[in-house]
Amino acid sequence: MTGDKLQINLKAARARAGLSLAQTSELTGVSKAMLGQIERGESSPTLATLWKIAKGFHLPLTAFLEDMVLTAGSFTPAPRIGHDRAGIGMHTVFAFDPRFGSETFVMTLEPGHRHETPSHDSGVVEDVFVIRGEMEVLTGGVWKRLHTGDGLRFPADQPHGYRNLTDEIAQFHNTIHYPRLALSEV
Ligand code: MN
Repeated sequence: MTGDKLQINLKAARARAGLSLAQTSELTGVSKAMLGQIERGESSPTLATLWKIAKGFHLPLTAFLEDMVLTAGSFTPAPRIGHDRAGIGMHTVFAFDPRFGSETFVMTLEPGHRHETPSHDSGVVEDVFVIRGEMEVLTGGVWKRLHTGDGLRFPADQPHGYRNLTDEIAQFHNTIHYPRLALSEV
């Protein structure tokens, strides 16, 4: 996970909020040193770090990965973001769209890879829709098995995870719903 966009978006989010690096560190749980490295383009943070930053600012993940995501939504596939060395890859399918309060990624899980994440902000819900292979989702403390074509919607404001126990790559669409960030109808 890397890129100029993250650098720029993190700086912009911090400037908008009027926060110092130290305050941002407190807010996100990411060290001041790491935040500084990201802003200087010297570090490629893991997905886990990216999520900490997004959660700290109460923003969707694509607010840090894409251009102009807080303006009107784009329906064209965004460029590939990259592949985490840790065995989980992602790219953006739909950047965050405030009309719907959601963003969608394609996630790739290498064989044997397991990725567990802490809770998102209150009210956040995720959809997992398996498009290739077989995988399991951790929700409510239980690993649920999903095959190609299966979907699962679960509360993501509690710890959750994804794992691939097979010898083949697994891929899934991951939509993250942020009801509190959606524009309300007038
Ligand atoms: Mn999640």
